[in-house]
Amino acid sequence: MAETHPVIIAGAGPVGCHLALYLARRDVPVLLLEKEPELPVDLRASTFHPPSLEMIADLGFGVVEAMLAQGLVADRYQYRDRRSDEVANFDMSLIAKDTRYPFRLQLEQYEFTRLVVDRLQKLPCAQVRFNSEVTGFEQSAGGVTAFVRSATGSTAEPGAFLVSTEGARSTIRKQAGIDYLGFTYDEKFLVVSTPFPFEAVFDDLSWVNYVSDPDEWCVILRTEKLWRVLIPTTPETAADEARLLSDEFIQQRLHHLWNKEGDYEIGHRTLYNVNQRVAETYFTGRVILAGDACHINNPLGGMGMNGGLHDANNLGAKLARVIRDGEGYQPLLEQYNRQRRDLAVRFVQEHTIANKKLMEARDIDAQKARQKMLMETSADPVKAREFLLERAMINCVRDSEAVA
Ligand SMILES: Cc1cc2nc3c(=O)[nH]c(=O)nc-3n(C[C@H](O)[C@H](O)[C@H](O)COP(=O)(O)OP(=O)(O)OC[C@H]3O[C@@H](n4cnc5c(N)ncnc54)[C@H](O)[C@@H]3O)c2cc1C
Repeated sequence: MAETHPVIIAGAGPVGCHLALYLARRDVPVLLLEKEPELPVDLRASTFHPPSLEMIADLGFGVVEAMLAQGLVADRYQYRDRRSDEVANFDMSLIAKDTRYPFRLQLEQYEFTRLVVDRLQKLPCAQVRFNSEVTGFEQSAGGVTAFVRSATGSTAEPGAFLVSTEGARSTIRKQAGIDYLGFTYDEKFLVVSTPFPFEAVFDDLSWVNYVSDPDEWCVILRTEKLWRVLIPTTPETAADEARLLSDEFIQQRLHHLWNKEGDYEIGHRTLYNVNQRVAETYFTGRVILAGDACHINNPLGGMGMNGGLHDANNLGAKLARVIRDGEGYQPLLEQYNRQRRDLAVRFVQEHTIANKKLMEARDIDAQKARQKMLMETSADPVKAREFLLERAMINCVRDSEAVA
C-alpha cells in the first residue's frame, strides 16, 4: 500500500512553497506537487510587505537573507499627480518600531519560489514533484486521496490533508463544489516591463509609484530587474486584446508616460484579468484552500500573494498542531476559516477595491481631493504611520491573529 502523506500540497506557487517549508521545518512530512515541469516564471507579484518578510524570516534556512541580497528595498512609495506635479511621499521608516522590516521588498515572486524549493529539495521530510497535476480527490472521515497525473501515468496518493494552493483556477476548489463568490472587472491590466531608467527622468522617483493623470492612471514600479508599468485597458474583443499587446500601442502609452526619443525596449507584456473573489469556505473536511485558490483581488497595493503567504503561515501552525500534537482538526480549520476568510472579505477586498477607485477617479475635483488627502496624510507623521500600518498589512495580520 502507498505511504500516507500527512500533508499533500497541490501547486508550487509562493503560497504552496511557503506552506511546505513551514511544515518541513517542523518535521511534518509534506508532498508538494506542481503540474508544470519546472517552477513557473510569471511576472506577477513583486512586492513583499513587512509581515510577509517576518514570516519568511521565521521559516529560517536563510531564505529572507537571500531575498534581501537579491531584491530592491523600497523604503518609501509615492502617489504622484501628473496634472499638479504634486507628490505624496510615504516614508516607511515611520513604522520602524512596528516591524523588523520597515520597507517593501521588490523581488519577483518566482525568485522566492526558487529559493524555497532549493531548500525543500535538501530536506528529508519534504518531497517536491514536478510534472504532477492533481486532477481530483476523494475523501472520507479518516483521510483524503489525491489523484495525480504525471509524465509516467496516474497515481493515487493517500494523505491526511490535501491543501490546494493551485491558484485562481483551482481544480480542487471546483471539484469540492465551493463557489468562488465575487466579480470580474470589464477592464484588464496591461503590464509591460522595460529597462528604460525612469528614475533618471522623473524627479526623485521612488521604486513604487501610483500615478494619476487627467487621461489615464498607471503604476510604475521597479523590480530587482526592470521597471514595470501597469496600465488599465478595456478590451472588447480578442482582436482588441491583440491591439493592446501590439508594439504600436505599448510604445504610444510609454511615450505618453515619458516622451523619450526613439522606441522603448520592451522586456515583456501581459494582459491580466482583474477579479475580486473569495471562496465561500476555505475548507471542506480534510480539503483546504489557501492563496489565490480561495481569494483573488486586483493587484493595486500588492495584497494577493502577501495575503496568501499569511494564509500559509496561519494554516501551517494549525496543521503542525494537528499532526505533531494530535489536536482535533475540525476546530482549528474552523478558526483558520474565521481568521483568514473573514479577513479577506473585510480587509483585502475592501482595501483593493478602494485603491482601484482612488486611482481611477476621472473627475478633476475628485482627483484634486484625492491628492490633497494623500498630501496631508503623508505630511503628518501620525496619520502617515496609520496609513502605512494599513497598507503594509500590519494591522490586518494583527487583527487576524486576534480572532478566536
Ligand atoms: C500583474 C500582477 C501583479 C501582482 N502583484 C502582486 C504584488 O506585488 N504583491 C502581491 O501580494 N500580489 C500580487 N499579485 C497577485 C499574486 O501574483 C498572486 O496572488 C499569487 O501568485 C498567488 O500565489 P498562489 O501560490 O496562491 O498561486 P499561483 O502563483 O497561481 O501558483 C499556483 C501554482 O499551482 C500550480 N498548479 C495549478 N493547478 C495545479 C494542479 N491541479 N496540480 C498541481 N499544480 C497546480 C501552478 O502551475 C502554479 O505553479 C499580482 C498579480 C498580478 C496579475
